[in-house]
Amino acid sequence: MDHPTPLRLGSLILTPLRLALIASLLLAGAGSAQVDAGDEQQIRARQRLIAHQKHADVVAASLLSAMPESSRHKPVPYLGLHIADHKSGENALLGRAVGLSKPEHPFVYAVDPTGPAEKAGMQPGDQVLGLGEEAVPDAKRFHKLAAKSDLRFPLRIAVLRDGREMEFELAESRRPRDLEVLVFGDGVNVNAFAHPKGIVVTSGMLNFLENDSEVAVVMGHELAHIVKGHFSTSYREGYWQPYFSQDLEKEADRWGLELAHRAGFNPEVGVAIWERMDAELPRHLGEQFFASHPSTPQRIATARRVAEELEASTRAQESEP
Ligand SMILES: [Zn+2]
Repeated sequence: MDHPTPLRLGSLILTPLRLALIASLLLAGAGSAQVDAGDEQQIRARQRLIAHQKHADVVAASLLSAMPESSRHKPVPYLGLHIADHKSGENALLGRAVGLSKPEHPFVYAVDPTGPAEKAGMQPGDQVLGLGEEAVPDAKRFHKLAAKSDLRFPLRIAVLRDGREMEFELAESRRPRDLEVLVFGDGVNVNAFAHPKGIVVTSGMLNFLENDSEVAVVMGHELAHIVKGHFSTSYREGYWQPYFSQDLEKEADRWGLELAHRAGFNPEVGVAIWERMDAELPRHLGEQFFASHPSTPQRIATARRVAEELEASTRAQESEP
């Protein structure tokens, strides 16, 4: 289901809430206007973003598979492909980052290492021509087709690779609920947020976080906002408002730490993230994140307590005969 209205988060305006559009608006990052001198550097920045996207996909897969039964919805098809539109000039550098000097079709810029597209042999740089029986003229159409709940598997995807038409068959794969995990940004700004259809983590945040457990705790927190329905009260004046209340943040912190723990990550890093943010992150780099996630002493204390409880319950289980 598409939300017809824009999502406004700080200075970002995201219309509508689908990956394609968020991606086309934001993937290019801040530097897309300068294409000459810094070209190589800009391309490398996008290659790093693509690596971050794969990393986020892997952590998300672990978190989603550990999601408690009560948090699941009707499972939805999942292809594990990140597609950019070829017609958006902002994606030109992203195209070059995956070896396409002039893409003429919507193209794959990242493949989830845990998804069915990777297993079928699809690669970044593949230009998508068709999905099932349908032609794919642009990324918007791709996302619309891919989101259909009655997709037939194995799903055939026709692509253009190195000037040759090829076809791949994707095995059936579903996720416990419909949500997208998107990495975007310039590698500098540190932010993460949720919207009703998914979570967004900036490449700056992924540069700041030091290991998989830290990524899992931040993503778990954002997933909690979706699973716990924290948006239902924040739709005002035609926009999804960035919502913050201490109670909701507390609930999201706890649920996120529990999910990370269930998925096998170390919840103790929750403490390290907040302490390091407070001590090391220049305010201007994390401004938007701090606005909704103030790093307070109580927050650090809660993270420590929850981690200790989770560890204690694990030890208790392990020592049972
Ligand atoms: Zn939050």
